[in-house]
Amino acid sequence: MRIAKVTGMIVRIRLRKEFRHASYRRNWSDNFIVRCQLEDGTVGWGEGVPRTYVTGESPESALHQLAVTDLRSQIGAKCLTWKEVLDVCSAYRPHVETDDPRGCMANAHRCALELSVLDAYGRLFEQSLRRVVEWLPESAGIRRHCARVQYSTAINSGKIGKEILSSLAMRIYGFSHCKIKVGMNPELDPQRLRSIRRWIGNTMDLRVDANEAWTVDEVIRRIQALGPFNLSAVEQPVPHAGVACLARVRRNVKTAIMLDESLTGQEDAQRAIDEGLCDLFNIRISKCGGFLSSIRLAAVAHNAGLGYQLGCHPGESAILSAAGRHFATSIGGVHYCEGSADGHLLKDHFAQRPLTFGYGGWANAIDGFGLGIHVDQRKMSPLIQKSNTFAIS
Ligand SMILES: [Mg+2]
Repeated sequence: MRIAKVTGMIVRIRLRKEFRHASYRRNWSDNFIVRCQLEDGTVGWGEGVPRTYVTGESPESALHQLAVTDLRSQIGAKCLTWKEVLDVCSAYRPHVETDDPRGCMANAHRCALELSVLDAYGRLFEQSLRRVVEWLPESAGIRRHCARVQYSTAINSGKIGKEILSSLAMRIYGFSHCKIKVGMNPELDPQRLRSIRRWIGNTMDLRVDANEAWTVDEVIRRIQALGPFNLSAVEQPVPHAGVACLARVRRNVKTAIMLDESLTGQEDAQRAIDEGLCDLFNIRISKCGGFLSSIRLAAVAHNAGLGYQLGCHPGESAILSAAGRHFATSIGGVHYCEGSADGHLLKDHFAQRPLTFGYGGWANAIDGFGLGIHVDQRKMSPLIQKSNTFAIS
């Protein structure tokens, strides 16, 4: 069975409220969505969330890459087994028109295309996306089926009064892990953390994400100032350009360091390991180039004695939520799980049933073929900004 055609789309999804952190603010998300149709009419869906400040991609560049890549030679092979599908996905190299030393400038594009292909063949083979993990030799040391996962919650930079209410709400809702966005107003962060810790309770696992906000000169001082609040990790404390300082930072602070913007793929991962830059990887499926490369990155972290979390991009629809759920229920050792919050964060939905986590952040593994979700094209149509279809076979 071959792929008959792929359609790339820029889909604008409205957020329930403006999302802000130290690098960006927005109240909508332009996602790159791919519809893959096999010769027998079987359809699969994939999604990427291109962010220029993370991988250098834009929704337009992700769509453009479909037009300038020789799709027929790259994804036109006949596939009858998972191994053949995985070979096609792993060998896929979209055309990138600019310098790409970190190999990340097509990651959201790759993610959307790969998920659509895996979803389509999963439906054809009548198997879940989780089965793919068994076909990846690299995953041997981390495979573990979990029936359910507990997602982490987050508190973004806001007013102290609002953060107290959020802290109480997260505590009552039964979450076990909470990430706090810091760095918008660094002098106020210790005060914010003190208040949040007081109201959210001592048993909640708290970590912070600085989104590259601190300078190389101040980073140790900033982390030490948050020391009294018992943080389990600090995510991306400095801009990627200054990430080399983190080996020294790790020797001077007790809090674990997690890379996010500086962890987009194998090149970044190898550098982080070689230079001792972090304790944890933040693996976001879109940022890291898809389901397969994300599983491989988790294996790389595991083999290097590092931890990893499943991250997400605000604005992810049920497509990436489903991919994340399969990731989190297929492998063990995931320190924190983020995502599956589309029901809370988005105004627009095009999946037939929500995937949003329930009380305590708990959510079950997804059954069904491929991604295990049904995309309603009628609901998606009004959200499409641009689309382009390419015949493959
Ligand atoms: Mg982050």
